[in-house]
Amino acid sequence: MTTASASDKSLAGKTALVTGSTSGIGLAIARTMAANGANVVINGFGEANAIEKERSGIESEFGVKCLYNGADMTKGDEIAAMMAEAADTFGMVDILVNNAGIQHVSPVDEFPVEKWDAIIAINLSSSFHTIRAALPAMKKKGWGRVINTASAHALVASPFKSAYVAAKHGIAGLTKTVALEVAQEGITVNAICPGYVWTPLVERQIPDTMKARGLTEEEVKRDVLLAAQPTKQFVTVDQVASMALYLTSDAASCITGTMMQLDGGWVAQ
Ligand code: NAD
Repeated sequence: MTTASASDKSLAGKTALVTGSTSGIGLAIARTMAANGANVVINGFGEANAIEKERSGIESEFGVKCLYNGADMTKGDEIAAMMAEAADTFGMVDILVNNAGIQHVSPVDEFPVEKWDAIIAINLSSSFHTIRAALPAMKKKGWGRVINTASAHALVASPFKSAYVAAKHGIAGLTKTVALEVAQEGITVNAICPGYVWTPLVERQIPDTMKARGLTEEEVKRDVLLAAQPTKQFVTVDQVASMALYLTSDAASCITGTMMQLDGGWVAQ
């Protein structure tokens, strides 16, 4: 029996760039794209040795090329330089996954101004910067995929998350607008809207939510996080990555401008 090489796989010859892919959902998406033969560009913060271990591990495990660029998603010039490096290295970005995101939980009248600015920059404006850089080559090729990791909070709100909910609703609007602009160019633009996925981002907001609502850790998990999720189960990073992979397929070529819910029934209520 022969083993499929990277060049036999569905994304062979393509390049996927995933922002915020040193952790959580983004890392799972980058690994899934690589497992299916794409060269990948990973991005995000973290400890240099751990990132290099992940980068080289992706290359050796999946037989693809993997580039790391540490661009700060709050900085338009660093994002432009990352997109240029990806194009110089691989020719173009075929699959753009806008995933980097942060959270801060606080009543709106106490919300730190610098947190508001950072959340809008990372969770919303960075996608404008990557999309504007990626689209010309996608248009020239007549093929492209833009996948934005939004959230159930792109569709509904929760208290104490004003900046996050505003940014994610903004991503929904950006997704729909760009989808319409490129609808006849072979490029699809979609948002994935997960409910609660068990990642470091969720783990980190537990102490603030405990403080804001005066609850214990278990109460935050049961009564706040999974209260809205009828299945009472966290979504997994691999489930999100599988949906992203599906959106890259030919079977998904008519799906554009959508908010793909992956939320255990949250938004159905
Ligand atoms: P995470 O904290 O595990 O990962 C976030 C990634 O973004 C990391 O790689 C981090 O280094 C990177 N990042 C943060 N600030 C950055 C910056 N300024 N520049 C570049 N990279 C930066 O979080 P996650 O849960 O995997 O979240 C990923 C995305 O999924 C986010 O957009 C988040 O809003 C969204 N999301 C998460 C959940 C959930 O429950 N975890 C639910 C819905 C949507």
